[in-house]
Amino acid sequence: MKHLIEKLEQSRRLTGEEYLALLQHRDPPTTACLRERAVAVRKEHFGNTVYVRGLIEVTNYCKNDCYYCGIRRGNRKAERYRLTKEQILECCALGYELGFRTFVLQGGEDPYFTDDILADILKEMRGGYPDCAITLSFGERSRASYQRFFDAGANRYLLRHETACAEHYRRLHPEPLTLEHRKQCLYALKEIGYQVGTGFMVGSPGQTLEHLAQDLCFIQEFQPQMVGLGPFIPHQDTCFAAEPSGTVELTTFLLSVLRLMIPNLLLPSTTALGTIDPFGREKGIEAGANVVMPNLSPVSVRKSYALYDNKICTGEEAAECKLGLERRMQAIGYEVVTQRGDFSPIP
Ligand code: SAM
Repeated sequence: MKHLIEKLEQSRRLTGEEYLALLQHRDPPTTACLRERAVAVRKEHFGNTVYVRGLIEVTNYCKNDCYYCGIRRGNRKAERYRLTKEQILECCALGYELGFRTFVLQGGEDPYFTDDILADILKEMRGGYPDCAITLSFGERSRASYQRFFDAGANRYLLRHETACAEHYRRLHPEPLTLEHRKQCLYALKEIGYQVGTGFMVGSPGQTLEHLAQDLCFIQEFQPQMVGLGPFIPHQDTCFAAEPSGTVELTTFLLSVLRLMIPNLLLPSTTALGTIDPFGREKGIEAGANVVMPNLSPVSVRKSYALYDNKICTGEEAAECKLGLERRMQAIGYEVVTQRGDFSPIP
């Protein structure tokens, strides 16, 4: 498998069959070699720095019914909340004070947040924090809405493709959601000029290594600036409650593959990874990730943004959350930096 790792590092691309072969041969020497190359490439581009993003979970109302998600419309047990504009701006003020220079606004697809309402919030944020990056993660909207948010000051957008296989997509999402539309959204975002993040859950129900090879091919073709990749974790009030979680082993292996595929990629070590393993986020960084996303949402709503069971950091204040991550990163030889850390193309 060493030749495939070398080929990936040098040419930054493999065929679907080659990705599949790599995924099928995850023996300890292959994993060690892949990780070593990924960490070397990561160091070359980012030194020992880890970027920090302040995550604000704006609303857990959602009109979609994704089968895996704890805040899906059909979960009657979810305690719904949405933050007011004032609360969102308070989170930003606190975050700025703590040194955050990227704010990520994430939420379910909540019809309350019309284009007017969201654009108004974005304009205030842009006016108050001209030096900060604003990332949105509000799911599928029209191209006109995406354009409006961009014009109002948003710079980045996260929209995981979730799976690059249309049949598997159908197994995870009911109609009217389709892979085709999701991809259209991703291409529209890119054309508008956003730095775009896509990604998927590792170990989602029905996922095979062939699907993962397809995911890698899609990412290779799309060339996103960010990739969100975390293990699937079941939520007790969904139809996938009895399904097993994804593993640290496969998630970190994929993080290393992605680092070699797109060396300058912004690649978070996710909260989901930290939830299935007490040192999951450290393991993600040590596999090639370079971003952490502490939670800036008010503690009073944290537990309600439960996408999956046993989510970590639901009781911590933002400062505690950030400090905890800084210490964890320092302990493994990395330094959390406050600059906004935009994607920069390789010359
Ligand atoms: N509504 C927006 C969207 O769909 O992109 C943003 C919010 S959505 C809850 C954010 C991400 O959470 C999804 O892209 C999905 O991959 C992840 N997620 C949802 N349920 C999950 C679960 N049970 N385990 C792990 N990740 C999950």
